[in-house]
Amino acid sequence: MPEQVIIIGSGPAGHTAALYTARANLKPVLFEGMTAGGIAGGQLMTTTEVENYPGFPDGIQGPELMAAFRKQSLRFATRLFTEDVARVDLSQRPFTVVSDERTLTTHALIIATGATAKRLNLPGERRLWTRGMSACAVCDGALPVFRGKVLVVVGGGDSAAEESTYLTKFASKVYLVHRREQLRASKIMQERVLRHPKIEVLWNTVVTDVLGEEVVSAVRLQDVTTNRPRDLACGGLFYAIGFTPNTGLFTGQLNMDPMGYLITKPDSTHTSLAGVFACGDVQDKRYRQAVTAAGSGCMAAMDCERWLTEEGLTS
Ligand code: NDP
Repeated sequence: MPEQVIIIGSGPAGHTAALYTARANLKPVLFEGMTAGGIAGGQLMTTTEVENYPGFPDGIQGPELMAAFRKQSLRFATRLFTEDVARVDLSQRPFTVVSDERTLTTHALIIATGATAKRLNLPGERRLWTRGMSACAVCDGALPVFRGKVLVVVGGGDSAAEESTYLTKFASKVYLVHRREQLRASKIMQERVLRHPKIEVLWNTVVTDVLGEEVVSAVRLQDVTTNRPRDLACGGLFYAIGFTPNTGLFTGQLNMDPMGYLITKPDSTHTSLAGVFACGDVQDKRYRQAVTAAGSGCMAAMDCERWLTEEGLTS
């Protein structure tokens, strides 16, 4: 017997989809894979304090928030498998979902596999991650550890422009380190950066290491035109070098944009294939917040339930 719905992904989008489909009696199966970030639960598992998730006025630790999401999914009898999905076959219905442990078929699929923030993999990165390093200024910039400090942002796109501007609220100064001599960001965002008295752009420069004992105290830079290295004292390093949507499983099976994000139909979570829905960062390169991911997880569950009912596939 095929499942009614399988959800892939265990961040806020996946768990919210599970909660809503479970309460709609669709008996969801959720695969909480570990490919993205090496741990189930998505990007919040590598965040410290979350201060912008509504309902937690004193903030909450990212892993604690995800544990609560998981508990709530289980409370309504979601079947959780802590396994990476290795393959999906969407060429015929019911769809097939394969992990190392099992092969299941399903009438509907909700994809919530998220996106992975790109990192530079600097020598000091593993040791100092979350100790003054982050890939999300909007999530972490307001934390006490960054207040009043000199902060460094790497990147040259809209994210780097937006995040360096955002960080000026807390930082004493923001250096935007970009590997070329021209920003990729849209003109209006470039102007905001270039005009801002607290932001200095370091052109033609790359970051080669992050330094510090307990927390970040400096970055090692290299001028790519002269190859000259230098250390810049700072209290925080933020990556804004783009994201990779986790859509490898669906290549050739679903419509994606040139960057690999799943395309959903306007005002819905329907993908290019009937019965397949997408929510959270795997289809959102603009907002990327836990709360927006959770919101779209709810939308996917409702779209899915409606579709199953219309197709006469609910049992
Ligand atoms: P982008 O891919 O647009 O930009 C990534 C930036 O990081 C580029 O400047 C790139 O340099 C640099 N970069 C990439 N890899 C490295 C590396 N290994 N070392 C050093 N630098 C590196 O990603 P964004 O996240 O900025 O934007 C993604 C999409 O989201 C875009 O379409 C953007 O418009 C959109 N967006 C819109 C926003 C808004 O409208 N408010 C806000 C944020 C994003 P280079 O330029 O040399 O390639």
